[in-house]
Amino acid sequence: MFIKRLYPKIRQLKLLAPLAKKEKADIISIFDNNIFKIRVSHGCCFQCSYCAIRFAIGKLRSRPLEEIINEFKEGLKNGHKKILPVCGDLGSYGIDIGLSIYDLLKGIFQYPGDYKVLLNDFNIYWLLKDFDRLKYLLKSNQDKIDWILLPIQSGSDKILKQMNRGQYPVELMKKNLTELRKEIPSLELKTHILVGFPGETSKDFQESLNLIKEIKFNEVCFFKYADLPNTISSCMPDKVSEIIKQIRFVYGVWFCSIWCRPYIKKASGTR
Ligand code: SF4
Repeated sequence: MFIKRLYPKIRQLKLLAPLAKKEKADIISIFDNNIFKIRVSHGCCFQCSYCAIRFAIGKLRSRPLEEIINEFKEGLKNGHKKILPVCGDLGSYGIDIGLSIYDLLKGIFQYPGDYKVLLNDFNIYWLLKDFDRLKYLLKSNQDKIDWILLPIQSGSDKILKQMNRGQYPVELMKKNLTELRKEIPSLELKTHILVGFPGETSKDFQESLNLIKEIKFNEVCFFKYADLPNTISSCMPDKVSEIIKQIRFVYGVWFCSIWCRPYIKKASGTR
């Protein structure tokens, strides 16, 4: 019975794993053609040590807010109900043109309507950086959002530092996500975890699981680390063996089937 429940999830994650190198917007379009996509920026301002995509997409180039809002209004006029801002990292929108993700979301949410904005690929660094303002904005517009994908990748301070995803302590992440849960219980929190990063010990992996358990994410996608050409991490020592990566991957999926709560909103009839 339990295996039956777990198997589709493992299968789904195995299918998703090879897509990890593609842009997430492509993945979404496979499943839902009704999503109205608006390109909000190109490129990325981070230098994650394991990422090869950044070499292809280049530096962050945000589009003018006015253009985005005009496209958004056009989408609403044409009856679209789901809006997906497309970018490498949603949280960094605008920092190259003197704006921020707060300005983008505030600009969108000012329009009333029966729509949902899909907050995809939002590096948690930006949420923590401007937490109070963003929390208030999300809370005031909770009817216009279903979920936010915050790819945290690891719950270990040591591994996060080596991943170079922006500096923030895990404790702050826990504190703010717990607060977000409390303030906006209807908001689904999704995340990605990368297992088997060079130097990841069983203690580091356990710290990721502890964070998942504490926050009770609604959805967790696991990816197995792989060396990609010209990345800093590919030159790091202490590589994790394939068998250990596989064990952590499968154990992580099982752990989430116990501790996460993917169906809580459906169960409470809120969507
Ligand atoms: S946030 Fe990191 S992983 Fe994502 S595109 Fe930028 S450098 Fe790559």
